[in-house]
Amino acid sequence: MSLGSVGRIVGSSLRVTSADGDYLAKVQQLRKSALIQHARTSSPYFRSLLRDLPDRINNWTDIPPTKKSELMANFDDWVTDPRIQLDRMEADFLSKPDLVGHKYLNRYRIFTTSGTTGTPAIIVHDPTAWAVFQLVTRLRTERQLLRHGGITRMVRHGFRSAVLFATGGHYGGVGVAAFVQNLHPVLSRRVLIISVLRPLTEQVSELNEYQPTFLSGYPSALLELAREQQEGRLKIQPNLMLCAGEYLSEPQRAELEYSFGCHLLQGYAASEVPGLALECDSHRFHVNADWYLIEPVDISYAPVPAGVTSDTCLVTNLSNFVQPIIRYDLGDRIRLHADVCRCGSRLPSLEVEGRTNDLVRLEGESGSTVEIVPLAISTVIEETPGVYRSQLVNSDPQHLRVRFDESPNCDRSHVWQKLNERVTKFVKDHHASGVHIELDLERPRQEKNGGKLRQVVRS
Ligand SMILES: [Zn+2]
Repeated sequence: MSLGSVGRIVGSSLRVTSADGDYLAKVQQLRKSALIQHARTSSPYFRSLLRDLPDRINNWTDIPPTKKSELMANFDDWVTDPRIQLDRMEADFLSKPDLVGHKYLNRYRIFTTSGTTGTPAIIVHDPTAWAVFQLVTRLRTERQLLRHGGITRMVRHGFRSAVLFATGGHYGGVGVAAFVQNLHPVLSRRVLIISVLRPLTEQVSELNEYQPTFLSGYPSALLELAREQQEGRLKIQPNLMLCAGEYLSEPQRAELEYSFGCHLLQGYAASEVPGLALECDSHRFHVNADWYLIEPVDISYAPVPAGVTSDTCLVTNLSNFVQPIIRYDLGDRIRLHADVCRCGSRLPSLEVEGRTNDLVRLEGESGSTVEIVPLAISTVIEETPGVYRSQLVNSDPQHLRVRFDESPNCDRSHVWQKLNERVTKFVKDHHASGVHIELDLERPRQEKNGGKLRQVVRS
């Protein structure tokens, strides 16, 4: 990526937050046209999808919505670089954990979506998409850091970032952190990746030793650590926390900010649209609408006006040409705000509903309760060979029932045997005892309103 291109991304990103709506609309229109043009000429899937639409599409909503299941079923036809083929990528790249954070074909960043979204997907980012994600999120995070005095404190105490994620695969968050580590040996000492798959006591001692000044991860993982901090086993003083990937309630936010004594910044994103939105001081998510579009829609994909909660939402990534994400169903219920935010940003703002996964609560040794982050246990399940997607039922601390769908051509009983062994070991490593792990008769179930698959249910 040339310096000129970086300059253009930075320039337009800075201007768009304060410019009037006409400037944003103009930028969006140019980028939409370029993306559609490229998708039509270079993606066999989009050529076919858009074949009945005129050369110049005047009505954006005429473009048929797309879905994750279609993306995965038509993977090789969807991408615009014919060298990318799903089976080859799986064999040469995704099956190799030591390549996490490296580029595929020396050019592309690959993310696999984790258990929080139910059905796994593989997302390919080209160099521009990656640069936009990095620059836009960095520019807008640093504004927040400045406002909260974080930069001054970082300078004083040094920059040491701890990232809590499920490691082992090419998951969004950890892929980013591993990429930073690979950039330069100096940076590798500045980023510590801690796996939430490991027992809490080990996470605590590693953090105590590292003393991060910047802490990021899933809200449920940070909440577990907040309790450790309150009880005095964890002793860290971060200057800023960043979380994303799950819903965070106001009481939970207050608990995190109180426990760690610093501001918490939330992102709202997905591997398909990694720089989608970032929270402001008024606790609204502002969409980085110069590069990412989000449309609230009802169950039949008709637009839902501002102020009304949608059934789902469609996202578009205007920066990624290798795997076009155009009017793609993200599965979240959102509500756009109709008014301009108090913070002064002109970027559209929204609220997200129901990104919630309950913590798994199990009986520990000597009657204590062991809490486990949903993502951690779901990752153990979904990384079992042959598991396509899964859901856990945690009705009481002594029982854990597993629902799963197996991948095509896999023997269900054989997959269950492996899965059972892995979950039993995981639960034991977390010092839970006397927990009955059973196969549930039902298959994983979506939320009634067509929403996401919840990884953990308590019924
Ligand atoms: Zn705001």
